[in-house]
Amino acid sequence: ATPTALMVGTGRGAQLGILIKGPEVLESTRKVDTVVLDKTGTVTTGEMSLRDVVAAPGEDRDEVLRLAAALEHGSEHPIARAIVAGATESGLELARVEGFESVDGLGVQGVVDGHAAVIGRPKLLSDWSIDLGPELEAALSAARNTGATPVVIGWDGKARGILTVSDTVKATSAQAISRLRELGLTPWLLTGDNAEAARTVAAEVGIDPDNVIADVMPADKVSVVQRLQGEGKVVAMVGDGVNDAAALATADLGMAMGTGTDVAIEASDLTLVRGDLRVAPDAIRLARRTLSTIK
Ligand code: ADP
Ligand code: MG
Repeated sequence: ATPTALMVGTGRGAQLGILIKGPEVLESTRKVDTVVLDKTGTVTTGEMSLRDVVAAPGEDRDEVLRLAAALEHGSEHPIARAIVAGATESGLELARVEGFESVDGLGVQGVVDGHAAVIGRPKLLSDWSIDLGPELEAALSAARNTGATPVVIGWDGKARGILTVSDTVKATSAQAISRLRELGLTPWLLTGDNAEAARTVAAEVGIDPDNVIADVMPADKVSVVQRLQGEGKVVAMVGDGVNDAAALATADLGMAMGTGTDVAIEASDLTLVRGDLRVAPDAIRLARRTLSTIK
């Protein structure tokens, strides 16, 4: 491979909105046959909005929203931003939080107005030995069936309500995925979100339901990449979040959304500057073309 042609390749990449860490990245880009896509912020906009708040029997809806927003104030997760915005729109004044703590891939916890509170995946509440009860269980599955993302809040040992947020698929995602397919690549969807929400997004963008992996803890995103590699696949991972960084570093090719976190960008070989997923197939086409002119 002539270094000059590789340099030209990386230069052309920059014009297309692709930042390439080094010329050698083009070689792994060319070989990729499998593309694992993070859902939130990669295939979807990651700008979630609050759709619904359901209070447990005997609880007050505004109080559920007020405490939830207070807890989420310290989190940068898109779910957190949606809940805080929802409370602000409702004119609620946020309560004080002490001992805020984020539990990676599960939710957040802290002491709000003197109440030990937790919000996030149902699993986080069961870790706290908090039972949802039949009403909230029903509300949870109803919300999931719409393809949205419900989270549960509890305090003082009791489940208090469900807050449902939803996201929108980026206008360019379906086209990006069909272009990846045209290049002979198999797209996968990988997310910490629930299976119904993941399947809804997959259907919208044209990813096979068999290639959807949901309810994945951040640490297990790496295992998914390794498993596919173990099957002989050459894997590209596309992600934006802190929770994607390890998988981005493990993949044969890590592609970060330029709109994502610095941690994801640092862990990646390649950055899609404008956060447009269509640039992922562009990168692969560029690598193939650059290297075929060399050989
Ligand atoms: P993704 O892979 O889609 O980026 P994450 O790993 O960030 O998802 O989160 C997985 C799940 O953990 C979310 O769908 C949500 O249920 C829960 N979760 C994570 N962070 C928060 C938070 N700040 N507040 C409430 N729930 C959260
Ligand atoms: Mg993400």
